[in-house]
Amino acid sequence: MTIARTLEDACTALAEHPDALLLAGGTDLMVGINRGQVGFDHVVVIDRVDELRGWRREGDELVLGAGLTYSEMGRGELPVLLPALAQAARTVGSPQIRNAGTLGGNLATSSPAGDTLPVLAALDATVVLRSSHGTRQLALDRFVTGVKQNALEPEELIEAVRVPVLDGPQEFLKVGTRNAMVISVASLALVVDRAGRSVRVGLGSVAPVPVRAIEAEAFVDGAIDWDTGSVPDAAVDRFSGLVAEAARPIDDQRGTAAYRSHAIGVLARRALRRAFSESAP
Ligand SMILES: Cc1cc2nc3c(=O)[nH]c(=O)nc-3n(C[C@H](O)[C@H](O)[C@H](O)COP(=O)(O)OP(=O)(O)OC[C@H]3O[C@@H](n4cnc5c(N)ncnc54)[C@H](O)[C@@H]3O)c2cc1C
Repeated sequence: MTIARTLEDACTALAEHPDALLLAGGTDLMVGINRGQVGFDHVVVIDRVDELRGWRREGDELVLGAGLTYSEMGRGELPVLLPALAQAARTVGSPQIRNAGTLGGNLATSSPAGDTLPVLAALDATVVLRSSHGTRQLALDRFVTGVKQNALEPEELIEAVRVPVLDGPQEFLKVGTRNAMVISVASLALVVDRAGRSVRVGLGSVAPVPVRAIEAEAFVDGAIDWDTGSVPDAAVDRFSGLVAEAARPIDDQRGTAAYRSHAIGVLARRALRRAFSESAP
């Protein structure tokens, strides 16, 4: 086992043991290990690497460290700058899970139900990957490639995620089989870019990978009265229908495809109404 103290330590250990498991908060990994589903020869522990922790602002962008925990997403200035991420973080697990679980772990797990993923999709996030060979950056839709599959190469780790700071309301909504400690059956993030006069929508748990509702976005951008901040009721209905059409859900033990399509339309309607009643002058 290597307990990395710096990013260089972690990259060196990964170069020496390309098949090593990275351990951040352990809230996904330990479940797999305890069930005997994950085997390993070497573990690289990264939760003490300062360069992976916290977040910083660089101009109009935020750089979120891979080690940013859910508790930290909901603290200080970050909920003001990234309200949808803070809202998503509040729905994750229990306080213990939120104190340990990280953004990088959620991304690397690449579950369709990962709660940060629709937010990152809506924000057009860029994932920063690091190895002893250098750094590369991938758009989120190139990083997450399938159910629990992603573009991480051997020896690579997620260093950070870059997202824009937008001027406008943001919402994250999730439907599960109960109100707390629940994996999402459908989730939706909606972010408004007032300066760009655009709405962006990311969907979770309704396809193998996070989905953007592109047609719904284009439609609603043209239907909003940006000067008054209002949206006609008929446009809200059409938006909700187009978002549901963007979903590619399946039946599984948590819900049927038909329920998911219905639920995502309801979430779309609710998020748009909340965003525009709050932003109205
Ligand atoms: C009781 C419980 C409730 C949960 N509730 C939710 C929920 O509501 N919503 C939700 O989305 N998730 C939930 N989860 C899942 C989990 O908490 C999250 O996916 C979490 O973000 C994982 O982060 P971690 O730091 O614990 O990752 P770890 O378990 O340490 O690692 C997970 C995977 O990511 C890899 N990894 C970690 N960090 C990096 C990195 N920087 N670079 C490359 N690979 C890396 C690891 O090697 C491993 O494969 C829950 C889990 C439990 C046990």
